[in-house]
This record gives sequence, C-alpha cells and structure tokens, in this order.
Amino acid sequence: MSPAIESDSDVRVATFDGPGTDPVIRKVARPAVPQRGALIRIGACGVCGTDLHILKGHWPKPLPWPFTLGHELAGVIVEKGDGLTEDFMGLPLSVGSKIMLPPLMPCGRCHYCVHYPETANKCLTPVYYGRYLGFEKPPHLWGGWAEMVYVDLDDLPGTKIYRLPDDMPLRLGTLAEPLTSCIRAFNRAIRCQGFRHGDTVIIQGSGPIGVLATAAAREMGAGRVFVIGAPETPRLALCREFGADGTISLEAHPAPEGRIAAVREMIGGFGADLVMDCSGHPSAGPEGIEMLRDGGTYVEMGQFTDAGAIETNWHRICTKDVNVLGSWAFTANDIPLGIAMLDRARDRFPWQQMQTLFPFSEQGVRDAIDAAMAMRSVKSTIVPCEEIL
Ligand SMILES: [Zn+2]
Repeated sequence: MSPAIESDSDVRVATFDGPGTDPVIRKVARPAVPQRGALIRIGACGVCGTDLHILKGHWPKPLPWPFTLGHELAGVIVEKGDGLTEDFMGLPLSVGSKIMLPPLMPCGRCHYCVHYPETANKCLTPVYYGRYLGFEKPPHLWGGWAEMVYVDLDDLPGTKIYRLPDDMPLRLGTLAEPLTSCIRAFNRAIRCQGFRHGDTVIIQGSGPIGVLATAAAREMGAGRVFVIGAPETPRLALCREFGADGTISLEAHPAPEGRIAAVREMIGGFGADLVMDCSGHPSAGPEGIEMLRDGGTYVEMGQFTDAGAIETNWHRICTKDVNVLGSWAFTANDIPLGIAMLDRARDRFPWQQMQTLFPFSEQGVRDAIDAAMAMRSVKSTIVPCEEIL
C-alpha cells in the first residue's frame, strides 16, 4: 500500500468513450467507504477477449460509455467498513487482504438465481463491481483497468469478494476468473458424462482461454490434450509448455479439411472424446464435431458473439449456456424401454389412431407409401397377415 495512493483524494481510471476509441485516464473522487463496502487497490488486471469484443463493438447490448473495462482483477483491500468482515466463502477480510472479484456476479434474488442455481451465470440482473450494469453515471469506479475498484455490499448484496491466499502473487490471482471459466466448461462435460479420466481432449484455440483450458484438462484428468491454434510463437509453444501432447497449426493447415485430417492422424483411434472450442471462431463448431469420435462430446465456450457468423446462431449455444445433445437411434439396452412403455401405457394413448392400415398387395404397398409421402396418414402400416393381427 503506497502512501502516495493512500493519501490521494482522486483515483485514476482508464475509460473508453466507445468502441474503437483510445483509452483516456480520468480521475474519480475517492469515495467514502460505507459500512459494508471496500476500496480495493488493483495490483493487476488482465485483458480478456471479452474486452476486445467490447472495444470492437461486438457487445450485443448497450453499454454505459464511457466506462472502465477490466474484469480479471486482483488487488488488496486498502479501506473497508466495519460491517464487511468476510468474503463470499466466509474467509475473514481485513485491510491488506488480497482479493479478486468476478464480473457479472449472480444477484442471488432473481428467478434464475433462485430456481436454476446451476445456471445462475445467466442471472437476470447480474451485479458488476460498483453498480448494476446500465444504471450508473460515468466515470465509474468498477473496472479493473484502474487504480482502485469500489464495492458496497449494502447497495449491491450480490457483490462477491473472494479472498486470495496471502502468499499468492496478485499476477497469478488475475488468472482465477478465466481459469474458472475453463474448469466450469469441463465440469459441464462431466455432468453430461462427456469427460472421463484418461480421455483424449482437443482444445480449439490457443489464446489465453485455450492455454488455461489445456492446464484445466491436465489437472482434471485428461489422458491426452491437443491444441489447434496459431501462431506457433508464442501461443502453440506455450500450449506445449502447459502440457499439450501435440499442437496443430492453423498456419500449416489453413483449411478445415486439412485440420480435421491432421488432428485425426495425430490422435489416432476413432477421434477425440471431447472437443472444446476456446477459439471464438464462427466455424470452429462444425469443424470440431468432425474431430470427435462417435458418441463424443462438444463444448462450445469460445464463441459468444455473432461477430462474423450472423448467418448462424451457433454462438447462442455458448451465450445461452444450453445443452445441445445429439441422439442417434438407440442401443440394444434401449429396446426393452420401448416395449415396456407400450405395455404400461397401452390404454393411456390412442396408439391405433396413428396407424392407417393397408392390405398386402402391390396396390396396397403403393397406397401405403403414397399416403405417407402425402402426409394423409400418420403411420402407414402394411398388414401381410391379417389373421394374426
Ligand atoms: Zn440473479
């Protein structure tokens, strides 16, 4: 805690007037800290792909320009009210505590937070550090590209402070938020029985999320991890430092067909058990599916804006946090389920009404097909031996 900043009455924040503009350092009056509030001096804050999208004008909703970006922050509490005593997990907080704050914290009160806690990331009224998004006057004191961030848990009870270990460098702490996104993506796959210990994993994208996903895959039990991305230096080389067994270069394989073939040759067998898109590239999904073995799992976590893919809504798989499942026919163990349901529910549905019967003759078979094609019947059904029906 430098005395210079401690005594400053102003806090310097970097703001942007809108997409495509240069940063401007502005000053915000240092606010009084309320009973359950705190001022956090920022040690470091990452630049996220989301920030870049916002600066390119890709954010789908209006934003309160000019404002301060930066949500991968780690800092130290320099001032706090007496009523703020512990973090979200119950760890004690004091002046000097190292902390991180995630962006868009679930409010804890809306329909999603209350009824769908597993997808409270889709909270209807998420909390940003200082104020509800969209209801503030600039300049703000809530982005991490600033000397300080301000929180007030009485004003915004959804605010969540997470204490970092005392001996964790703040620089490392800034990675907590993006790494958590990767861990959740693998946990989503686990919940769908789509990621098991020893599985072969392909990561599409070698940006920061691709690198962190490689680490998460390793830590969470992947057998082999392969990364598709570019450029070789620094990104693919770093993925290998993070434990990737192999990397496939977009520069060496500029076309999807070439990448699919290269991946399949590199990993062998039937394909990958799990492919995770961390690239944000509009065509990654269809390409990645071809790298899966039959019965594999695809997780879309990278593409969350429609930038470059306005003709499809593939990015909505990510932004809506939905499960999109393929289901092809059945296995041998499924057939008894069908027989049992028909038996159990034989009197509960008008099964026979869906069937139009046709006699077993050339004309009968032709009529059965014609009726089905013309949608005059629901289920044309041919009766070769009426006597046993
Ligand atoms: Zn909520």
